[in-house]
Amino acid sequence: MSTSSYLSDRINNLSESATLKMTKLGRELAAKGVNVISLSVGEPDFNTPEHVKDAAKKALDENWTRYSPVPGYPELRQAIVNKLKTENNLDYDISQIVVSTGAKQSLSNVILTLINPGDEVIIPTPYWVSYSEMVVLAEGKSVFISTEIDNNFKITPAQLEAAITPKTKLFMFSSPNNPTGTVYSKDELAALAKVFEKHPQVFILSDEIYEHINFVDKHESIAQFDSIKDRVIIINGFSKAFAMTGWRLGYIAANKTIAAANDKLQGQTTSGTCSISQRAGIVAYEQGLESVNKMKEAFARRRQLVYDLLRDIPGVRTNLPEGAFYFFPEISSFFGKKDQDGNIIKNSSDLALYLLNVGHVATVGGDSFGNDNYIRLSYAASDESLIEALKRIKAALGKLA
Ligand code: PMP
Ligand code: GLU
Repeated sequence: MSTSSYLSDRINNLSESATLKMTKLGRELAAKGVNVISLSVGEPDFNTPEHVKDAAKKALDENWTRYSPVPGYPELRQAIVNKLKTENNLDYDISQIVVSTGAKQSLSNVILTLINPGDEVIIPTPYWVSYSEMVVLAEGKSVFISTEIDNNFKITPAQLEAAITPKTKLFMFSSPNNPTGTVYSKDELAALAKVFEKHPQVFILSDEIYEHINFVDKHESIAQFDSIKDRVIIINGFSKAFAMTGWRLGYIAANKTIAAANDKLQGQTTSGTCSISQRAGIVAYEQGLESVNKMKEAFARRRQLVYDLLRDIPGVRTNLPEGAFYFFPEISSFFGKKDQDGNIIKNSSDLALYLLNVGHVATVGGDSFGNDNYIRLSYAASDESLIEALKRIKAALGKLA
């Protein structure tokens, strides 16, 4: 992406989203007639459930086509409050809910709302690509806690304690995690909450967008611990659970001060998100999780399929992710090897580009998720595509010498 002296420092200092970049490169290659399998972007390969689409059609017919209230329609915020109570046993009031243009905007709103220049934001690596860049936009400073495959990509309370300084303002993480699929148990979250109890200046941004794609346990939120709940900001949305990535619908649940601040920020930037998406979101939440559970069954089957195929590739090391729909295998054994034109694979981005150009499979290098020794594969694709993609990856990696 280009930088220029007449662009702001803010934008010149910002990196392009690697997930979206690799997806764009994949699409460009496909437009040239190449049969590309995309495992780069993380989005369900299912269609939005019929009853949700019907609700959107009805909303149009009923002329829900004007500006909505900035934080979202009260009925949608009430449906979110009800969901948080029935599914997560968490008490919120609608004044604590702000609906936005996807969880991405919710995250960005919260960071801009809380972070002053120089404030430290603790982010366990690997993390979702946009976290650190949103901190760049807010002129904060990311402080990374590194985790590896051998500890299932989980931080310990001791690591957290060691990372906190008087400048720490925010800790942000996702469970289930993008890109590793790691899921924190209730006991593990309780141990982290104990550390936060000692540091009342630290807020906790808990990204729960993959809550329904969890293969090990029921979802646990760090907001369940009353001693810190007021400092937890839950992020969630409709993209993953209801296959609604294009509808742009996400939200926060937070204390009233943070919610009001997000409302104010959004009122000066985007206003309320799409009225039709919001009406459909009400029906999605009111009608329950049947469609989500069907998707989850497919993801569980594909997880096993990809696990077996990845373990069969020499030089690739993987764990069995506990949630979300990604694998984050270790691939550093290929660094230093040469492709057929004599180019050396130096890092995970080189490997992802090689897999795209030679194997015709789009993945994303781990460097933009905070660990260069890995690549990310999304298994939100059909079983046939996954089998073919893993065959191509194995063949392409086998050609590196
Ligand atoms: N958080 C995580 C961890 C994600 O993977 C994504 C990508 N979908 C988002 C937030 C943003 O989701 P959306 O803006 O589509 O609601
Ligand atoms: N969250 C998805 C991903 O990680 C969507 C792409 C994006 O917004 O980064 O691939």
